[in-house]
Amino acid sequence: MPYIAMARKWRPRSFSEMVGQEHIAQTLKNAIATGNIHHAFLFTGTRGVGKTTSARILAAMLNCTAQGEQKPCGQCECCKAIAAGSSMDVSEFDAASNSGVDEMRDLLEGTQYPPMNSKYRALIIDEVHALSSKAWSSMLKTLEEPPSYLIFILATTEVNKVPATILSRVLRFDFKRLSPMQISKRLAYICEQEGIEAEPEALSIISEKADGSMRDALTIFDEVFAYSGKTITTQSVQNSLGIPSNSLYFELVNAFEAHDAKGSFAVLENAMSQGVEVQVFLDGFTRFLRNFLYAKIGLSAEQLEISQASLKNLKDLAPKFDQGDILRIAKIITELNEKCSARRGLNPRLLAEAEFAKIAWLDRVANIKDALEKVENMEKVAPVAPRKEENQKKIGTATYSAGTGSAGTGSTGTGSTETDSAGTGSAAGSFRINI
Ligand SMILES: [Zn+2]
Repeated sequence: MPYIAMARKWRPRSFSEMVGQEHIAQTLKNAIATGNIHHAFLFTGTRGVGKTTSARILAAMLNCTAQGEQKPCGQCECCKAIAAGSSMDVSEFDAASNSGVDEMRDLLEGTQYPPMNSKYRALIIDEVHALSSKAWSSMLKTLEEPPSYLIFILATTEVNKVPATILSRVLRFDFKRLSPMQISKRLAYICEQEGIEAEPEALSIISEKADGSMRDALTIFDEVFAYSGKTITTQSVQNSLGIPSNSLYFELVNAFEAHDAKGSFAVLENAMSQGVEVQVFLDGFTRFLRNFLYAKIGLSAEQLEISQASLKNLKDLAPKFDQGDILRIAKIITELNEKCSARRGLNPRLLAEAEFAKIAWLDRVANIKDALEKVENMEKVAPVAPRKEENQKKIGTATYSAGTGSAGTGSTGTGSTETDSAGTGSAAGSFRINI
């Protein structure tokens, strides 16, 4: 049996299978239930969040011949034809490759005739922002006075390029980017259905990399599946996607903690020798620091979408770092990452090493409570006021010594005065202030 890409195989056939766009599904379902159907829809949102899929589901819902609320049923002739892309009454048009007025005219000509086998004729236009201005104008006329059976479903990733005259005639739906958690959940469901065993952390890495797009997630999943087979582990995901293993990040932060710049360079060298690019390494490190910070403040493994073993490792590391330290390192790494991606001419490895050295040589942030306690304890031993005045006295002596031109004897003199005057400092000081 030929292999079907996961994105195609698991393309939702109904709104209940759609992830993250419940607000849109509900509105469309209500519109169909009440029969209050607008003649033009605009689906906007980033790539791979289900715009075209929703357009097909909407077309199928409008035309499904099944009785009752279970629409689209997926069983009737209309549903089957739309799912297979062979329906005569639902046309899909890619504006990115057919942006001219002639193509648009041909397309609209086909809409002059009522649907053959269904109630509505649906025109799905993908990447609609790519249309030329003449193509828009020719579409506008039909959009203003459409035949009762015609439904426009426009989809775009760049709604700002859609003319205002069009926007004012369509019902707009904004699709949300998917959270890593939503993507992971869907991937876990697919794994279960496909009989694939996958570690939650492995799916979490894929979800993060997909950057809000379910289609990208499934494409990455295909790549990982081709490498790992039916058992997907964190390690196999890292190997197939060229993502550095977490143990390298543990080594790196331990090197920072030990003020070991050389050790931090060795970790980077190790990652690069495994074929990991500097920026991929830094991306992963940013994610690691985020998880580290959240683990420190007490989030669970489920909330972080990592394994219990990883959480334990992070928690073991936590006492060595203050939250302020982690934030400070994260800030440096984020800025470094931006610098590397903004200016391609720079040598990212050199930049990374310079920043790693900076972090390794930094002192840890002192805990304010501990620092205050230390100051208080010092005050108990020697009250603050006399010591301040002692300083004034010291400055006075130093100036005086400089005036006489013998800095050497001056400083020795100060030293002896300091020890001698410990008891009488207070009186001498207040006397001087009064003057
Ligand atoms: Zn049906």
